[in-house]
Amino acid sequence: MTEEVPASATMATLEDSATPRLPHRAVAVRSVNKSYATNTGNVEAVRDVSFDVLRGQVVSLVGPSGCGKSTVLKMIAGLIPFDSGSIEVADSPAAAGRRDCGIMLQSPVLLPWRTVLENVMLPAQIMGLNKAEAEARAKSLFELVGLQGFEHSRVWELSGGMQQRASLARLLVFEPEILLMDEPFSALDEFTRERLDSELARLQTRLHRTIVYVTHNIPEAVMLSDTVVVMTPRPGQVVARTPIELPRPRTREVMAGPEAQALILGIREAFDDDGGAPE
Ligand code: ADP
Repeated sequence: MTEEVPASATMATLEDSATPRLPHRAVAVRSVNKSYATNTGNVEAVRDVSFDVLRGQVVSLVGPSGCGKSTVLKMIAGLIPFDSGSIEVADSPAAAGRRDCGIMLQSPVLLPWRTVLENVMLPAQIMGLNKAEAEARAKSLFELVGLQGFEHSRVWELSGGMQQRASLARLLVFEPEILLMDEPFSALDEFTRERLDSELARLQTRLHRTIVYVTHNIPEAVMLSDTVVVMTPRPGQVVARTPIELPRPRTREVMAGPEAQALILGIREAFDDDGGAPE
């Protein structure tokens, strides 16, 4: 992405429609329990998980691998059921296929036989949006995510980082107000991940989405978030909800400063009591 992104008519729409339609408490997770039935018995994945995501906030779920972070995200997306508790998204029960909520996964899941533009337009087409409108919107998103010039490329011609940029454009094309992101940059090299993190943070200052971000990387969570929800190893329970009040933009200098380092240390220490600290 370039530093200066010209505001197109489409992006003006996206920004104008940012989050006012959402209630103040955009996502409410209450006392949620979830076990998976397996051949060898029940696996208790998450236990009594509760947290709120306020409108326009970035909330990260942090915890070691296997602690149930993805499970929580998929339950918010309505992709998997839970055993007890409740999850409200914009004041209605979590459900799959809603337009106000979009999910982005660790692997890009782009269709190789389609061009990048056709991939980005796919959700808009599935939702029955006007094709010309969807195409105009998709094209402006290419600029926003720094992929201009690659509209007609094939997926295999893109690097991993570029594929995730395409996934981000595909996520934004139907203008969801809530973005659910499951370790979207964790498969990328450190340099690319850091760059995409700061670009996502910059994008967020323009688009004001409500974001639930899953990661096992504590500095990444601190860099991006307004609140970090800390989970224990399986069964995942919430041990801390840490507000992050660092100034934005969270530059390398801010992140290397004593306040940020104290927050990172504090979250790491929350794991020490339970064992199994993530990165
Ligand atoms: P995380 O995202 O923190 O790495 P997950 O939510 O993916 O954790 O998984 C939590 C636990 O639930 C893990 O022990 C995992 O093996 C188990 N699990 C996840 N999905 C399934 C499934 N479909 N069937 C059985 N067990 C599962």
